[in-house]
Order: sequence, then C-alpha cells, then structure tokens
Amino acid sequence: MPCTLCGQADNPVYHRDKRRVYQRCTRCHLVYVPPHYWLSAEQEKAEYDLHQNHTDDEGYRHFLSRVTAPLQQRITANAQGLDFGCGPGPVLAQMMAEAGWPMQLYDIFYYPKVELLQRRYDFISATEVLEHLHSPATVLPQLWAMLNARGCLAVMTKLVKDQAAFAHWHYKNDPSHICFFSQETFHYLAGLWRAELEFIGNDVMFLTKGRGHEGCQ
Ligand SMILES: [Zn+2]
Repeated sequence: MPCTLCGQADNPVYHRDKRRVYQRCTRCHLVYVPPHYWLSAEQEKAEYDLHQNHTDDEGYRHFLSRVTAPLQQRITANAQGLDFGCGPGPVLAQMMAEAGWPMQLYDIFYYPKVELLQRRYDFISATEVLEHLHSPATVLPQLWAMLNARGCLAVMTKLVKDQAAFAHWHYKNDPSHICFFSQETFHYLAGLWRAELEFIGNDVMFLTKGRGHEGCQ
C-alpha cells in the first residue's frame, strides 16, 4: 500500500500488533494503516458517537485551549474560520465564538455541508482529525487551498516519536486512527507548501501561508 499522504510506494512495516499492520513512509514519514484494516463508515461513526458528551466538560475545554489560545493570538479581529471535522459537539468552535470569532462547522458525519469547503477562510482548525483521514493526500491540500494569504491551518494530533514508543502507544490502538504524523511529516508538508511551521507544545502545529501566491493552490 503506497503512502496515503505522499504516494511513496514500497514502504516498510513499522509495527505490527495483533489487530493491524502499520507502515512508515520513507519520504514523508507518515505512519499509516493499510485500507483493509479501516473501519466502515458505520463503524467509524459509532466510535465518534461515543464521544458526544464533551460540550461542557472543563477538562476537554482545557485540552482544546492548547489550540484556541495561541490561535487567538495569531488571527485578526474579523478573521473568518472553519472548524473542519468538528465532530458531534463542536466545542472548539463554541470556545472561539465566546472569544469573538464565530466559525463555520464542517464534519463529514455531523455537519456535512460541502458548500463550506468551496469558501476561503483566514483560519481553519482540525483538532483530532488528521489521525482519521483516509486520504490525507486529498484533504490536506484541499484545506490549504481554502486559506487566504496569511491564513493559518491549526492542527492537533498526537505525534509519533520513535519505533520503541510506538509499540506501547495507546493512541495507535483506537481502530479509527489510521494516520500517525510526526514532526518530520509536518516539515515535509511545510516544505511542499512553503508554509511557516510552528510546533506549539507536543501535539499542536500551526502552518501559515505566505503573503503572495506561493503554496499549494
Ligand atoms: Zn509519504
């Protein structure tokens, strides 16, 4: 199975457990699960339905503040935003709205308003989304192309450290997690897109567009 982000073929197996196989791309360093291990759409939605009751959970808001706080420092007063993959309870968008930035909501299962993907935004958040993508090769350039000049893509996903840590990593055990990024993968994307890349804490990344027409349009 070629890499689901960059298309590189013949990637070695990185890890194998009793349920799945994980390959690691030699080019972009994405660790990915081959498609025959993926959940069906129904099984996937059933997993997400289990995570419904987050909206007023202070712990969850604190978790998301690791994205919203630095994001609010980087956007202008009238910036227009999209929460991509917001899930059943769009807590991040609620927190941004409370701070003065109402956002559009898109989610393939819960808010499938595809027309929102035809617009331009000043910032797009994707928290706990990237690890679920069947085709990061399609979705990530699509998000990047939806950003205006100086637009910011704010993502949160847990990063792969090394093979030994991966073997014991609980994050890989969620059957809906099929893509595992690392710092190298974000450096690959930043190079491809000529984006400014910031790592904020352990698992929050901001990719910002230049002023001109550079990037993956
Ligand atoms: Zn790759």
